[in-house]
Amino acid sequence: MQFFHQAIHFTLIDPTAKKILIVQRTSDEELEFGKWGFIGKHLLAGEDYPSGVFRAVEQELGFFSKGGCGEYAHHIFSHECCREFVRFFIVYWEGDPINLNSEKFVDYQWLTLDDLKTSKKHLLETTKYWIENVNWDSLKGWIG
Ligand SMILES: [Zn+2]
Repeated sequence: MQFFHQAIHFTLIDPTAKKILIVQRTSDEELEFGKWGFIGKHLLAGEDYPSGVFRAVEQELGFFSKGGCGEYAHHIFSHECCREFVRFFIVYWEGDPINLNSEKFVDYQWLTLDDLKTSKKHLLETTKYWIENVNWDSLKGWIG
């Protein structure tokens, strides 16, 4: 039997600077170590998707988000171990200090959409998928 997970992936956008956050994984993360990308999290039993997003912001970025979030895409990713139904969210960042979960992440950067699309960084495969498939035009007012 194949495991089927429900998960969220998300990133922050800074509506003032019109930039998008990416984070770099530590080199001892089992999967895709050292790569840059968005953040993911499995949902807990009974947890709804936005709650999973805000829990992930708190656990991985170290602040309680007061900004809203919106869902911009969804996709089923097939991995060797499992299949994941993932909803992709954008969280509107309101300037809270970011404190990365240092067990998972070593660095972060804010990039414009153009810089993200042309980045030479090693990006996570799932992040590449979102970069290509999210309707970024619908975020025009937010990220320019
Ligand atoms: Zn999973």
